[in-house]
Amino acid sequence: MVYANTNPDVGIVEGTSCFVVPRDTPGFKIETVNEKMERRYIINGEVLFDNCRLPEDHLLIRDDAYLKIRTYSVAGNTAEAAQALGVAQGAFDKTVLYVQEHFQGGRRIIQHQVIAARLANMATRLEAARAFLYYTGRAIDAGASDAGKLLHMLKIHCVESAFEVCKDAVEIHGGSGVMTELGIEKHFRDATIALHTDGTTDIHRFRIVNAMFPDTVGAYAGPL
Ligand SMILES: Cc1cc2nc3c(=O)[nH]c(=O)nc-3n(C[C@H](O)[C@H](O)[C@H](O)COP(=O)(O)OP(=O)(O)OC[C@H]3O[C@@H](n4cnc5c(N)ncnc54)[C@H](O)[C@@H]3O)c2cc1C
Repeated sequence: MVYANTNPDVGIVEGTSCFVVPRDTPGFKIETVNEKMERRYIINGEVLFDNCRLPEDHLLIRDDAYLKIRTYSVAGNTAEAAQALGVAQGAFDKTVLYVQEHFQGGRRIIQHQVIAARLANMATRLEAARAFLYYTGRAIDAGASDAGKLLHMLKIHCVESAFEVCKDAVEIHGGSGVMTELGIEKHFRDATIALHTDGTTDIHRFRIVNAMFPDTVGAYAGPL
């Protein structure tokens, strides 16, 4: 499916259409497939359209395709938040085992005070993120008027918490944290991408202010 602007006079929000473009359509070419640090199962790349023509019935949605995508963006933000939380919980679970099974300086790693403090921070971040996720989920289900604002807050809170938890996990594992063998670096890479998918955290910050102060918000917050 291809989303393309078909009405430049009204811009992206009201002027985007959705087309089905079969792979073998003449003039359509996948030019490059990007290498990236993670989520490698999702293919990102560049596609080329060179005098590519489609039958009329390949037009799925005319002009308001972007608005229709937004129907799914609620699920998108909660999914991003939940995924990030899962990634961080996995990193924490591995770390909990590691610090109890491994010794350094004549004692279990968990018996070093600074490690204990980090573990406490990680656990606290996870609890808070999980509670916020469920709270926001209930607000969405109930159709709460501030659900939109909560979603943006949730996305920021969960992905930034996950990033911090995974960073701690890498550091607590020492050198093993950056080696692929234990898979801790994978959690860190997975947490990194969540900072920008479904909108960067900074853009979500704009959306929060937009939802809270729509009459006085600055132009930076965009039209949505
Ligand atoms: C693996 C992967 C999967 C993806 N999947 C999807 C998908 O399924 N669907 C989809 O639509 N997109 C997808 N994306 C795109 C993703 O949503 C964008 O990469 C993301 O929204 C950031 O946009 P950008 O890359 O154009 O960065 P830019 O918009 O160029 O941002 C660069 C920097 O500028 C900042 N910035 C941008 N605009 C402003 C502004 N107005 N004011 C202040 N700061 C600003 C950003 O916060 C960021 O820090 C995917 C990306 C990746 C890497």
